[in-house]
Amino acid sequence: TRAETVASFEARIFLERTPGGPSLAAKPLKTGAGWYRGDLHAHTGHSDGSCQTQSGARAPCPVYRTAEAATARGLDFIAITDHNTTSHFAAMAQLQPAFDRLLLIPGREVTTFHGHANVFGPTAFIDFRLGDAAVPNVRTLQSLAEGAGGFLSINHPTALSGEACMGCGWTAPDTDYARVGAIEVANGGSERAQGGAEGPLLGVAFWEAQLNAGHRITAIGGSDNHDAGLSSDIASSIGRPTTVVHAPELSTTGLLAGLRAGRVFIDFDGSRDRLLDLSARTARSTATMGGALAARRGETVIFTATVAGADQARLEIVQDGEKRAPVFTRPGVFSIRMGDRPSWVRVNLRDTDGRLLAIGNPIYLSPAP
Ligand SMILES: [Zn+2]
Ligand SMILES: [Zn+2]
Repeated sequence: TRAETVASFEARIFLERTPGGPSLAAKPLKTGAGWYRGDLHAHTGHSDGSCQTQSGARAPCPVYRTAEAATARGLDFIAITDHNTTSHFAAMAQLQPAFDRLLLIPGREVTTFHGHANVFGPTAFIDFRLGDAAVPNVRTLQSLAEGAGGFLSINHPTALSGEACMGCGWTAPDTDYARVGAIEVANGGSERAQGGAEGPLLGVAFWEAQLNAGHRITAIGGSDNHDAGLSSDIASSIGRPTTVVHAPELSTTGLLAGLRAGRVFIDFDGSRDRLLDLSARTARSTATMGGALAARRGETVIFTATVAGADQARLEIVQDGEKRAPVFTRPGVFSIRMGDRPSWVRVNLRDTDGRLLAIGNPIYLSPAP
């Protein structure tokens, strides 16, 4: 007979009287539209985040360490996205008044065997048991997230799925991409694993395939930090990468509105001042990054890219997933002739060695009647 094996564990069950969960900052930390820099993916001891103790051992990492690291990094916001739990929201609600310059965005990483997705905004429980009777398919999960007022982002879509990382890649069949708010194309953990921003784990091709299918989905980044004490020069430390969002104000509602509008870029180095913006105009109308512009067939659309905090950097122009080399009439200014089909144009930023510094979101062109 087999030796008797015993798995012993302790389950602690906490009962919450308020069904909606704790509420966080109701008032904006800053009023006024502008660029706000932050991290949209981080774990604490409420799931599998750990950090160093006083004596150098490791322990589940308390939420305040993440807030302090984000502050040291100069971030305006951080979403704390522990796996399949809501238990971190009480700590965040407690910390927010003391962190009156760092917006703590409630998030959770819905972690399934068919992929991981962050849901930002709500603090109420959302059933994550994809495949169970309560959540038979991903569309139900999407409806639950939307019903709670959440914004859903597919995480690290091209991560490998298997024994090493069960369900990490996005393979959920029947995903309704028309209702996906964002795709995390740059993940700090993936960047660290593949030794650079670019490689098979970069989610750009996955995202661009959805753009080419006609969906308008915002590309974002997230460190996927699991150790708040990780040195800031390492990818997957808090703020690496940083997502920079043009938002109407620094509040959770404002940030989610900014993410939906798509005037957003990913700053791989998590700088404090790098900027990448894009606008477009025809004789009749204008649009900014994330927006849409109608143009007649054959009409010239003039684009202006605005770059700051990256001396010597060069622009890379991408149209419908293909790199393009349009003629620059002035630095940052180029034009594209409208075809007869919908199209999208976006820019990346690279340094003189070709290293990817920033990923920008598209402007969507549609044929004018
Ligand atoms: Zn994940
Ligand atoms: Zn994660």
